[in-house]
Amino acid sequence: DPIIVARDVQKHFGNFHALRGVSLTVHPGQVVVIIGPSGSGKSTFIRTINALDPHDGGEIVVDGIPLNGTRNLDAVRREVGMVFQSFNLFPHLTVLENITLAPTRVRKTSKAEAERRGLELLRRVGIEEQAHKYPAQLSGGQQQRVAIARALAMDPKVMLFDEPTSALDPEMIKEVLDVMKDLARGGMTMLVVTHEMGFAREVADRLLFFDAGTIVEDTTPEAFYNNP
Ligand code: ADP
Ligand code: ADP
Repeated sequence: DPIIVARDVQKHFGNFHALRGVSLTVHPGQVVVIIGPSGSGKSTFIRTINALDPHDGGEIVVDGIPLNGTRNLDAVRREVGMVFQSFNLFPHLTVLENITLAPTRVRKTSKAEAERRGLELLRRVGIEEQAHKYPAQLSGGQQQRVAIARALAMDPKVMLFDEPTSALDPEMIKEVLDVMKDLARGGMTMLVVTHEMGFAREVADRLLFFDAGTIVEDTTPEAFYNNP
């Protein structure tokens, strides 16, 4: 069964029609890279998948749960992790506290179990030794890896990435992309807005091209790169 179904999704900001009928079916384990000019609705579309931007037309179903208004909002958000361009960590919490916050508050996981799992995730993204530091003491690449670990701590079925490397210095981009590649290899379903065409070519199962609020092409890296 598909993990994400979007049917004719519409989104307005006032009079501005940001999404003009976006339809997409994503199957578990697919890595979908979203490409397109600035302002074409890429960010808005992935934000509708976890209702950060509520859609105002059409239908979105995540893992069988329809996302309508505020109904099912929490249930869907628990299944969907999101990583932003600007890491959005809590500055007054340590790295490990950033990661254990949602599992202990939302999932009611015990503190000990959340910390054990948090350290395991930090090891997986290669920054276990930073666990007790504060975000401002870390490089941008390290902060973004914390943000990925924090999202994974809720055991999401889908991960959304909104230009995850766009705010990073070149030498830090690779370390974040490598973590994302590992996730993809591990079978995570991912929607990734990025300008990193190397990542798209190597990792994506599908390439979606957005323009003016619609999907203008839905293809694969093989087809795209072999028939330019
Ligand atoms: P992209 O990610 O492709 O650069 P966005 O989805 O961020 O595009 O934005 C699509 C369009 O919607 C842009 O014209 C943007 O200015 C507009 N937009 C996005 N968010 C808002 C908002 N909160 N209020 C008004 N307009 C918005
Ligand atoms: P991106 O293209 O990465 O989404 P933007 O700079 O377009 O980044 O948007 C950053 C934030 O500002 C988002 O939360 C978006 O919803 C909001 N935003 C974008 N365009 C507008 C706008 N015209 N009016 C109000 N908010 C906007």
